[in-house]
Amino acid sequence: MPLTELEQATGAEMAVTLINSWDEYDADHEHLRDADVLRRWLRGNGFSRAADAISDGDVERARELRSRLTAAFDAPTQAEAVEALNALVADSGTPPRLERSARSWGFRSWPDEGEGLAFVAPYAALGLLEVIRDDGWERFGRCAGSPCRCVYIDRSRNRSRRFCCELCADRVAQAHYRRRQRHGSRARN
Ligand SMILES: [Zn+2]
Repeated sequence: MPLTELEQATGAEMAVTLINSWDEYDADHEHLRDADVLRRWLRGNGFSRAADAISDGDVERARELRSRLTAAFDAPTQAEAVEALNALVADSGTPPRLERSARSWGFRSWPDEGEGLAFVAPYAALGLLEVIRDDGWERFGRCAGSPCRCVYIDRSRNRSRRFCCELCADRVAQAHYRRRQRHGSRARN
């Protein structure tokens, strides 16, 4: 497999990192500040040609896309999450094309990466739909480490994930530990 295929993030991964560019834990919620942030995000996910096609106007479009993807996590039911993502694919996807990659044949239903942000919407939405198809919408979660509300996809075998990252898990564990210590010392007095 060529290196580039290994390095490219999946659609679901792209969706999660884009959604989390609005971060309620940080005082400055908006991480998607300008076109350079958008370019770095695309490049970091293995899509340099998409990064090269980004213009200033794409920042606002990326934020709109972010709210449409976020709806799939905040929907009241699985059916509504699927509906929201299907609508996004209907608006942004392309007719499926069968293409040969290094390892196998696969369908591509999004514009070429070289079209920049236009490729991200259907790529990310279809990635989330694949997770729902394969593992169920219950796998979509929001971090329990308040005030962080970042999203994650629970890939754990026993569906036990509660935090977006190790940092939040440690932060909450330490807070619990300190609380137990305080209660313990009061009980002894
Ligand atoms: Zn978190």
